[in-house]
Amino acid sequence: METILHQISENSSWVSVVTLLLLLIWEGYAPFFSFFRKQMKKRAHHALRNFALTIMNAVMTSFGFIWVWLWAADFTTANQLGLLNQFFLPVWAKALAAVLLFDAWTYWWHRFSHIVPFLWRFHRVHHSDPQMDVTTSNRFHIGEIFISNTVRIALIILFGAEFWHIALFTALMFPVVQFQHANIGLPPKFDRLLRTLFVTPHMHKVHHSRYYKETNSNYTSMLSIWDRLFGSFRLSKDLSKIEFGLNHFDDDSKQSVLGMLATPASKNRTLPKAENPSKS
Ligand SMILES: [Zn+2]
Repeated sequence: METILHQISENSSWVSVVTLLLLLIWEGYAPFFSFFRKQMKKRAHHALRNFALTIMNAVMTSFGFIWVWLWAADFTTANQLGLLNQFFLPVWAKALAAVLLFDAWTYWWHRFSHIVPFLWRFHRVHHSDPQMDVTTSNRFHIGEIFISNTVRIALIILFGAEFWHIALFTALMFPVVQFQHANIGLPPKFDRLLRTLFVTPHMHKVHHSRYYKETNSNYTSMLSIWDRLFGSFRLSKDLSKIEFGLNHFDDDSKQSVLGMLATPASKNRTLPKAENPSKS
């Protein structure tokens, strides 16, 4: 078990790249929404804009934060600090407990990002994509990633996590995040079965809806249990009627790389409730 978990953690980058390629092919052959039907150029343009943000975040994280996290994890382990170091647990159990703690935290961080106006300013960039697909899974403003990466330094110490626990969490969580954003549809019975444990494309399409009651639901990244436990689980009767994006952010000027980078400074500061049209 321990060896398998270590191997998963060491291959997180490859897992993400392979998942991305498979989902791009799936979206090309059997898209759920026909945003880009016979419009390869439009699809590539949309993907390149989202990838621009992905690259900025990857550079900042790989060349900066990873080293700080490594230091924090080594300091924590050397001094036996944090929650997980207060109990004797087998290596695999400690690693899985760390994954659960990080996943629960990610749920709450996402929920705060919808509630706290300052955080929502940044998180809007992720929600303003009117054509959500697998490339949206990495469309985050660099400011949002900077803040959440900084908070993670404290979490490593608080949880008593080792560095490889973070790599393991990323390797397990990120393919689920890519899958849930993909412009694909699963047979309803299969989606139902899968969402007993994981976030599915159905669940996350609801989260990216313009309708505020749907936007403010399904916050979890990997395990669907958090939404069920904290009362934010929601399904849609007709997924095909969902409209992605945010009002006031549909213009091409807001969807360009510069437009997305400027989004936190946009005068429209309102939270999802006021931004989205109520259909109820
Ligand atoms: Zn969100």
